[in-house]
Amino acid sequence: MYFQDVIGQELIIKRLISNIKNQRISHAQLFLGQQGNGTLALALAYARFVQCRNKGDLDACGTCPSCLKFNKYEHPDLHFIFPSAPNKEHKEKVSSKLFLSDWRKKISQTPYFEYFDWLEALGIENKQAIINAEDCNDIIRNLGLKAYESPYKIVVMYMIEKLSYQAAPKLLKILEEPPEGTLFLLISENKERIINTILSRTQILKVPLPGEEAVKKALTEKHTMDADTAAQIAFISGGLYTEALKLVKEGDEHLADFNSFREWMRLCYKNEAGNILKWVEKTAQAGREKQKSFCQYGLRIFRMCLLHNYNANDLIRFKGEELDFLSKFSRFIHHNNAIAIVEAFNEAIFHIERNANPKILFADLSFKLHRLMHVKTG
Ligand SMILES: [Zn+2]
Repeated sequence: MYFQDVIGQELIIKRLISNIKNQRISHAQLFLGQQGNGTLALALAYARFVQCRNKGDLDACGTCPSCLKFNKYEHPDLHFIFPSAPNKEHKEKVSSKLFLSDWRKKISQTPYFEYFDWLEALGIENKQAIINAEDCNDIIRNLGLKAYESPYKIVVMYMIEKLSYQAAPKLLKILEEPPEGTLFLLISENKERIINTILSRTQILKVPLPGEEAVKKALTEKHTMDADTAAQIAFISGGLYTEALKLVKEGDEHLADFNSFREWMRLCYKNEAGNILKWVEKTAQAGREKQKSFCQYGLRIFRMCLLHNYNANDLIRFKGEELDFLSKFSRFIHHNNAIAIVEAFNEAIFHIERNANPKILFADLSFKLHRLMHVKTG
């Protein structure tokens, strides 16, 4: 993460850089705001800049030994603390260090994610995750050691509001008497949930929404999206980048559903048994939820076909290739087979929910569809 990768936030970045250049680095800084605003992204870019040996005016150099270690977040003077809870792999007493590789993987993909996504990555979405006393003991141990190779030792603490009751006095003690050359970068979504004694020892940096324009720019540049779609997604996201990323992902899944559905219908119509079985094999590998939502997508297409046949085109929400497919495909769906097709799909969903064998289910549905598609209109 570099400053240039942060979505928007030009003013804050300018201020952070000028603080570093003027040697006004506060030893405990709180990046406050929603995750989608880029609090973690800013903290990571800032940490890189602080440690960079060859700082430019606007960003870290990217080539010094420190920057190279930052590429995988494996800098020996960069420490991470975050909420955790026992999961399948680590069943007993846990602390951040056990999950460090999961964390590095997560933030390397993108530091724009929601707290729930982090819990999901650990498989603990139904648990209360905390920053515990052991985490604070680790900080004390790490900070007690001499900095390996840089003037600063940086501790990034994600979601400081999850600090446990037992851990708070330990952290407070280090914040009160920090070893020389330590820098705490705390991330929080909600200041009200942070213990006051800790809050009062930090310098607060309020990170606002990146805003629609910045999100739109990021979508066109990072996702090579056309300007209209990017503007639409930026608008729906409300200027929150995590939300925009979710919408992009949904769009990709939708496209995958469409491509798979179109292929399937073609195979069913022609009754290409070998290829149908290949398609079934592939589809059966997806999870049940995915199979279910795919069938629901199919139902939607059939409904749209009927609307198309009744010339209710203003009700059709499809565009581009999907609409193109719909106008060709709809002639195969009519009053003599529509009900039976819809029933077959509803039945499939019913059985998917009850753990039916997906290979048998989709093969059976394919051959049924072949028969139904060849039912005459009149
Ligand atoms: Zn550098």
